[in-house]
Amino acid sequence: MTNRLRRFFALALTFASAPAMAHPPEQWSIAIHGGAGTMSREEMTDEKRAEYEAALQAALDAGAKVLEGGGSAIDAVRAVIVMLEDDPRFNAGRGAVFTWEGTNELDASIMDGRDLSAGAVAGVTGVKNPILLADAMRRDGRHVFLAGKGAEQFAAEHRLEQAEPSWFATDHRLRALERFKAGKVSAIEVDLKFGTVGAVALDSAGNLAAGTSTGGTTGKRWGRIGDSPVIGAGTYADNKSCAVSATGEGEYFIRVGVAHRICSRVELAGEDVQTAADAVIAEVGAIGGEGGVIVMAPDGRAVFAFNTTGMYRGRADSSGTSEVAIFAGE
Ligand code: ASP
Repeated sequence: MTNRLRRFFALALTFASAPAMAHPPEQWSIAIHGGAGTMSREEMTDEKRAEYEAALQAALDAGAKVLEGGGSAIDAVRAVIVMLEDDPRFNAGRGAVFTWEGTNELDASIMDGRDLSAGAVAGVTGVKNPILLADAMRRDGRHVFLAGKGAEQFAAEHRLEQAEPSWFATDHRLRALERFKAGKVSAIEVDLKFGTVGAVALDSAGNLAAGTSTGGTTGKRWGRIGDSPVIGAGTYADNKSCAVSATGEGEYFIRVGVAHRICSRVELAGEDVQTAADAVIAEVGAIGGEGGVIVMAPDGRAVFAFNTTGMYRGRADSSGTSEVAIFAGE
């Protein structure tokens, strides 16, 4: 073989192996939540605990499977949230809390940290999976935030699956509304937890994404919208800093601008994600708010911060971690 030929083959080999060398198998990581709240170990039966843990694990596995297969962070976030929206245990999609008028009005948002594309919807009543509507808007790209009838119209035009009001309505949420209306308990006490659901993920290409979906708070009136569909409050993702999904008393989370504030601290002050998340949840607490966040760092570190006694949560990554937890300190 001539030197020239040898050089040609060497070069061809380099190119053939280039993709593998340029993109070695990278890490992926995912974290999810199913709401934070006042949870007491005494009142949680073993059976109920096992049920919640299984539901969280199934959603976590669905997201991990997407990432393991080389799927994107945004696809993983969507997969997790669709599962939790369909699960009546959580306050999102099926099983959402009731408004004062006895309807279920759903809010959701999703954001891609790769290009800051985002979609959000509020006050949706007839779309089976609000997170899919938010993502359809994100992909469409013309608007970030749609509410009520207009959002429903967008969903119909994009042929998203519809659902009757009876799909979302559950007895235990109706009883919670009745207790709330009887004035026996506040919106927070009636549920003891904010069953909002959310996910944050890092995919093997290094992209971050976040999403959140909720029915809001029991007995909400006057078209009340919480933090969950507000980009920057309940959801935020930017490859430069982090991805965040929140759960808690939305009014406080909006006032603090929780999700964006955490990412700003990481980006501008160089804080690590746990420090930033703890500091911002402390700010929420300082003005009287309760709740928590899940945060994903660009290096795949997934952290939780909450000032309640528990938060339904889980995390999994490419190193083999796969765990779910409910109470603080677990
Ligand atoms: N953050 C939600 C809201 O205020 C409630 C929740 O987290 O469950 O609408």
